[in-house]
Amino acid sequence: MADSKKNRNRCSFCGRSEDEVGFLISGLNGFICDSCAAQAYEITQEAMGARQKNGVKPLDLSDLPKPVEIKQFLDQYVIGQDDAKRFLAVSVYNHYKRLLQKDRGDDVEIEKSNIIMVGSTGTGKTLLARTIAKMLNVPFTIVDATVLTEAGYVGEDIESILTRLLQVADYNVAEAERGIVFIDEIDKIARKGDNPSITRDVSGEGVQQGLLKLLEGSVVNVPPQGGRKHPEQKMIPVNTKNILFICGGAFDGIEKKIAQRLNTHVVGYNSVRNTAAIDKNNLMQYIAPQDLKSFGLIPEIIGRLPVLTYLNPLDRTALRAILTEPKNSIIKQYIKLFEMDGVKLDFEDAVFEYIVDKAIEYKLGARGLRSIVETIMMDAMFEIPSEHKDSFTVTLEYAKHQLEKANMARLQNA
Ligand code: ADP
Repeated sequence: MADSKKNRNRCSFCGRSEDEVGFLISGLNGFICDSCAAQAYEITQEAMGARQKNGVKPLDLSDLPKPVEIKQFLDQYVIGQDDAKRFLAVSVYNHYKRLLQKDRGDDVEIEKSNIIMVGSTGTGKTLLARTIAKMLNVPFTIVDATVLTEAGYVGEDIESILTRLLQVADYNVAEAERGIVFIDEIDKIARKGDNPSITRDVSGEGVQQGLLKLLEGSVVNVPPQGGRKHPEQKMIPVNTKNILFICGGAFDGIEKKIAQRLNTHVVGYNSVRNTAAIDKNNLMQYIAPQDLKSFGLIPEIIGRLPVLTYLNPLDRTALRAILTEPKNSIIKQYIKLFEMDGVKLDFEDAVFEYIVDKAIEYKLGARGLRSIVETIMMDAMFEIPSEHKDSFTVTLEYAKHQLEKANMARLQNA
């Protein structure tokens, strides 16, 4: 009897019985199974997206932050890198202007200027992107180029770059179509040699060709859940014409290409004429589009990334500033952590110099600062909350002792 009752409970949408589905939700006059519920959710999302298509929140230029304000905001979180900040600020502001112009239907069409930022790892590229995201009035997402492969290979389809943008725009296609995408590690899809390869280059040139389609501006079918495209998955068409792309990459070894170019073109028009004036410690500042080509980006991609900017390597002064100056600097974070236990945390100035010395010694750059501070503070963080102290000063002696005690090999291999 109980059995036949159970079998009477069927999904009112697909008709499958309770034991044929994962889960059955009962309503007033019927039932819905888990897979129909999921499908219904997708359909409503899509329908709502379509309805909102014409209902995008209008931008107003007077409300938008000006380039100087954008840079001032970045200054609070990112040390140095003034050139990159200025380029970013102007590009984002121009992006807004283009969107406004589109709404007005002007006859002088402003073309978008996608950006590429080149700088060693740990110099603040992602931090700049994350920080700018905090003040944007349009959807923004960061994606990693390393997971991308040409269609048909293991990895993610290029279109999945836009999946995240759709997600942050709540699947409102029109909103996503005016968003900004930061593509990190763009250098990882460079082809391996300067010459076009005869054999297929799955993770390099093919991906660049795919990416080109997005950068140029075209309607692409985006898998709403990301990953691989499945025939049964419903695609969402997205026009990339107004999406601003910011690319970042370390381009390890590009300095050699820059040096070669500078050496061979010293007498040329438009080149650095005086070799003595070249700052050999920071060749990155002379980067030009042809260096990206020598590195393995195809010319068409370079052409679609007309704004090229660089990040400086972080010197002692910058590392020292990164420790304490940004609004959410590492040291400020520790002071906050201790404050929550009612403990006033202090550092001797010499401790900061010591941390910077170690970061340089281990060649860990800014990324290493946190691990070093973490190692120094670990014991104190463990013990102090139960010691009922109201202050704690990290002396140079204490810092040295803690760091030497810790297994530095672990840090060096990090
Ligand atoms: P990249 O993307 O260039 O490899 P990140 O932006 O991820 O480097 O930087 C790594 C970490 O180093 C950041 O989380 C940040 O704490 C710190 N950092 C790097 N550069 C700067 C900078 N210019 N100003 C402040 N912090 C920085």
